[in-house]
Amino acid sequence: MSGNLAVIVVSNTDAYAGAFEALCRADIPSVSGKNVLLKPNAGRAVEPLAGITTNPEVVAAAIDFFQHQRASVRVGESPIMGVTAAETFEASGIAEIARKHSVELLDLDARPARTVPVPNGRVLSKLCICPDVLEADFVVSIPVAKTHMHTVVSLGLKNMKGCLRLKEKVRLHQIDRPADFPPELKTLDAAIADLASVLLPDFSLIDGSVGLEGLGPSAGSPKQLGLFVAATDCLAADAVAAHLMGFDPSQIPHLSLAAEITGSSIDVAKIPTLPADLSPLVDPFEPAPTELSVEYPGVVVHDCDSCSACLSTVVMLLERYHSQLLDYVGPNRKFHIALGKSLTDIPPGCVLIGNCTAAKKAQGLFVKGCPPVPSDVLEAIKKAK
Ligand code: SF4
Repeated sequence: MSGNLAVIVVSNTDAYAGAFEALCRADIPSVSGKNVLLKPNAGRAVEPLAGITTNPEVVAAAIDFFQHQRASVRVGESPIMGVTAAETFEASGIAEIARKHSVELLDLDARPARTVPVPNGRVLSKLCICPDVLEADFVVSIPVAKTHMHTVVSLGLKNMKGCLRLKEKVRLHQIDRPADFPPELKTLDAAIADLASVLLPDFSLIDGSVGLEGLGPSAGSPKQLGLFVAATDCLAADAVAAHLMGFDPSQIPHLSLAAEITGSSIDVAKIPTLPADLSPLVDPFEPAPTELSVEYPGVVVHDCDSCSACLSTVVMLLERYHSQLLDYVGPNRKFHIALGKSLTDIPPGCVLIGNCTAAKKAQGLFVKGCPPVPSDVLEAIKKAK
């Protein structure tokens, strides 16, 4: 294998072949005899090829590649609250691949977290990280190329949030704004950059076999892309992937903030890539809407600093039960629903989703949970009616 410091981009409709070629052409230091941890996106219990979890064929290619390098390979995940790693691995097809390759699957939540200081963090001073990640010799982030309602895109850096134990992931959405924090920024973006300052993966293999556009991270539409991006410079890999998805990396706050911290460039014109000319491969993704109400007439969503788990509940609720919900209308003949920790003005009669809204429960119909599931929300609404 000839080493290559460029960000490698491979186009191939065969996910296994494309991912394997990207790995073979990238600059990967010797991992012989080392513990390699593969961190796919297996955060949700959904079927494969929906653009939500990493394509199992891409995980298979990574297992084969690193096993061929004589590494000891394991695959780990700490999923969103409410599901277990065993459930998400099984649903995503990754468990089947692991069985075939005799590779151990790690529930990253199984062992107590280790507290790691974040020196000079903008919004975080420490993080509770799953120990298997810290103990691995070489960590490979294998995200799906997705759009994201809160962070524009979700790629290799964002995927590392699944290395934080249990509710530590949720804490990143609940950080109070420091007094001097720029008003145009979200604390979540700074938190992801702070995470990158202490837990940058050693390598990124971005799965663009089937990406997700629109209402990411979980309610968008699958997008057949057939691209694989691989590099040891994970921030550069994210920048190139974002560019291929039609976004300007400098306008993605968590990438800009991470670039300031790590000193990596996110200017695609300055990042060496193979091929050098990426323009024929750019295939713009539909961005995630910032306003859910636009998608669902008659519904007003009040979202102030929610996290993607509650957001997914709301999106699924609206997708499945939109017409039923309109029977429960509030002010202006609209159905009002609210989520997030920083809600201020909400109309009376609002449906309040998740524990973060508990402080406002006197103002509407509160549905507890972190997050509550859509059927519980519908049940609570019907009962109240
Ligand atoms: S209640 Fe919802 S928004 Fe709040 S932390 Fe839990 S999942 Fe996130």
